[in-house]
This record gives sequence, structure tokens and C-alpha cells, in this order.
Amino acid sequence: MSHQEPFIEKLCAEITNEDLLEETELYRITSQIYCHYTRESFLGDVKWSNRLKTSGANIRYNREKENARIQINRAYVKKFGKEELIEILKHELTHYYLYKRKKWKHGHSSEFVKTLKDIFKSNCIEAKYNEEIYRYHYYCQSCGSVYKSTRKIHRRIFCSKCVKKDRGQLKDTYQMKIRDSNTISPK
Ligand SMILES: [Zn+2]
Ligand SMILES: [Zn+2]
Repeated sequence: MSHQEPFIEKLCAEITNEDLLEETELYRITSQIYCHYTRESFLGDVKWSNRLKTSGANIRYNREKENARIQINRAYVKKFGKEELIEILKHELTHYYLYKRKKWKHGHSSEFVKTLKDIFKSNCIEAKYNEEIYRYHYYCQSCGSVYKSTRKIHRRIFCSKCVKKDRGQLKDTYQMKIRDSNTISPK
């Protein structure tokens, strides 16, 4: 697991209302993630989808134009939050990365799992639909805002309201702490 990833900390802190992001913002976030982990450019587009039902996202390739389209399930992001948005983007970008190397196979081969883990520092293989949601509650030490997450976060998370108000500064007092009474240990 990735513990302290300042890049992701910063990215998360910048995102507010993740399910209401403009598609240009979605694209910017996706490109940033891809470039950060691979030092390459993501050529394609990223769209919201209201049609996807059983997955968090998918990716399609246009062989002629040599680009890709990622579709993100908006209801999924609304339900599971920005941490999960980033995880599913990493997942789709792993498909893209392998595709660029002509290693496209449908599904999730051992090479897929290894690339996801080694290059993109994630282990998000399956969407979270079947898991219990919002098990972990975090609160801002400064303003008391609450952030609910489906997974335990092994790095610092910051209150996006406070960070935004302070023009992007990641101060210790804006760190969100887990609220123990609301945590349920995983089954
Ligand atoms: Zn996949
Ligand atoms: Zn705050």
C-alpha cells in the first residue's frame, strides 16, 4: 500500500464536489495522474456516464485516432467519493498504459495487476459496489467538516474547504482525523 503520497494528498485536497466536476476538470485530473506515474501524456478524453451500472468506469480505444475514451460512472463517484474516483482512474489508466504497449488483453491479467501496483501504486481491481460503504469517517480539526470514505486512508488527508480558503496550503491543522467511534473493523 502507498503510505505517504504527497501527489495524491495534494490532488485530493484540490477536489471539492467530486461528482459535480466539469469534464475539463476530470480530464485535467486524469492527465495529471497519468503523467505523474508514467511521465507520458494521456491522449484521449474523459466523460461522465449515467449509463454505466455495474462498473465504476470503463475505457474504449479508437484505433484509427490512436486515442481513448474513459467513461466514469457519476453515481458511483457520488456514492464512494474522490478517493475512489482516483482509484478507478488509476485502474483505467493501467488499461491505457498496457494498450499503448500493445499488451491489451481483455480483463485483468497478472501483468495488469502488477502494472497497477508497481506503476500506479494501486490495488483497485474491482469496483466497490458489493462492499459496505462509508465505513470510515474523518473530520477536519480546523472547521469540523466530515469526510466519509469507503476505505481506510493510509496517508494524510486534508480538508478541501480549509485548503481552498488558504489558497492551497496543506497545513497540519487542516488534516482530517479518523473518528474512532464510527469506524467498523473490516469483515
Ligand atoms: Zn478493468
Ligand atoms: Zn476544514
